Amino acid sequence: MTPAAWARAGAAGPAAGAAGAAGGAAGPAGEQAGPGSRACIASSGLAARVRLAALPTPLVAAPRLARVLGTGPLLIKRDDLTGFAFGGNKARVLEFLVAGAIADGAGTLVAGGAPGSNFCAAAAAAAQRAGLGCQLVIAGHPAPPPPALALALSWGAVVRWTRSPERESVDGGLPAAAADLASRGQRPYLIPRGGATALGAMGYLLAAFELRQQLAEHGSGPARVVVAVGSGGTLAGLVAGNVLLGRPWTLFGASVSRPPDVAAARVLTLAGECLRMLGSAGPEFAAAAGLPRCGAAADLSAADVTVDDARGAGHGLPSPEASALAEQAMRTEGLMVDPVYTAKALATVRRCAPGDNVVFWHTGGVLDVVAAATGDRR
Ligand SMILES: *Cc1c(COP(=O)(O)O)cnc(C)c1O
Repeated sequence: MTPAAWARAGAAGPAAGAAGAAGGAAGPAGEQAGPGSRACIASSGLAARVRLAALPTPLVAAPRLARVLGTGPLLIKRDDLTGFAFGGNKARVLEFLVAGAIADGAGTLVAGGAPGSNFCAAAAAAAQRAGLGCQLVIAGHPAPPPPALALALSWGAVVRWTRSPERESVDGGLPAAAADLASRGQRPYLIPRGGATALGAMGYLLAAFELRQQLAEHGSGPARVVVAVGSGGTLAGLVAGNVLLGRPWTLFGASVSRPPDVAAARVLTLAGECLRMLGSAGPEFAAAAGLPRCGAAADLSAADVTVDDARGAGHGLPSPEASALAEQAMRTEGLMVDPVYTAKALATVRRCAPGDNVVFWHTGGVLDVVAAATGDRR
C-alpha cells in the first residue's frame, strides 16, 4: 500500500466515541431478520443471492493427515478454495449479505472487526463486485495494516478506527458509522462482526446440501463434521442445514474466540433464526438461492451442536499444539492451515474423533498462513 492510502486509512476518524448511541438507526442486518432481509426474500430471485464463490468447492481425501490425527477416513471440504478475495468461508456468507444490501437499496456496506479480519477484507471486495461502497470499523488505533486490511484498502474500503484495542469496540462503532452515513443522505447496510446473521448463515445452510451431494457421490457414511467457530455464522448455517437434511452428521465447532458455551448458544440462536427465515421466505427464495426442496425443519435442540474449546492462549494467539498440526498438515498433504482458525480446529478434530469418519471443513485463512510462514505479525 502506498503511504497516501495508509494516511487515508487513518484519516477517517474515530467512531468509538458514539458507541451504542445510534443503535437502531442503521438499518437492516442486525441479529434479527429486519426489514432489509425480508425485502431480500420477498423480492425477485435475482436478489436472493449474488454469486461470489466458485462452487462446489472440492471434497478431498487426506489419508496421510488422517494417520497423524488418529481419525478414521478424513475428507477435507476445501472452502479455502472458494476463489474470492482470499475470503475462504466468507465468500458464501457474503453472497447473501450483498444480495440483502442490494434488495434494501443500500449504497454502502458497513462492516467491522480486528485489523486482521478476513471478513472485512472479503466484504470490501464483495462491495466492489456489487458496485457498493464499503466502510470498515476497525478495532484499535491507526497503525500499519496487516495483509487483510491492506487488501481491504486496495479494494477501496474506507476505514474508521475505534481507538480501542478491544474487538468489542466495533459493536458500538458499527451503528455509529451507519448513522453517520445516513445523516449524510447515504443508505448504509450494517453487517455485524463476522457477518453472523440469519441471512449470512444461509450461505452455509446451502453448503450443507452441497456436502451431502458430494458425500453421496463419494459413498461415505455418517460423519463427524468439524469446523472452526469465530462469530458462529458458518456453523449456524451448517447446523440449520444438517437439521433440514434429517441430521446425517454430528457437528463439532472449534471455538477460537468465545468460551464454548457462549459460542454454542450463539450458534443455536442463529441457526434457529436462519431456519425461521427460510420457513417464512417461501419457495421463490429457496429456488432462487439454489436450495433443493426439503421438508419442514424439526425443532433445534442443544444436542444439534457441540462446541470444543479451541482458544488455546487466546484469539489470534498461536498455540504450540496448533502450530505443530499446521506443520503436519503441510508436510503430510501440502495443506495450508492458518494459526488463528483452521490449525486450532485440527486440534479439535484430533480430540473429538479418534477412529471416526471425519469431514474437516477448511474455512480458509490463507493470508494468515503466509503471514505465519514469513514471520509477519497479524
Ligand atoms: C472467519 C473465519 C472463521 C470463522 O467463521 P465464523 O462464521 O465467523 O464462525 C473460520 N476460519 C477462517 C479462516 C475465518 O476467516
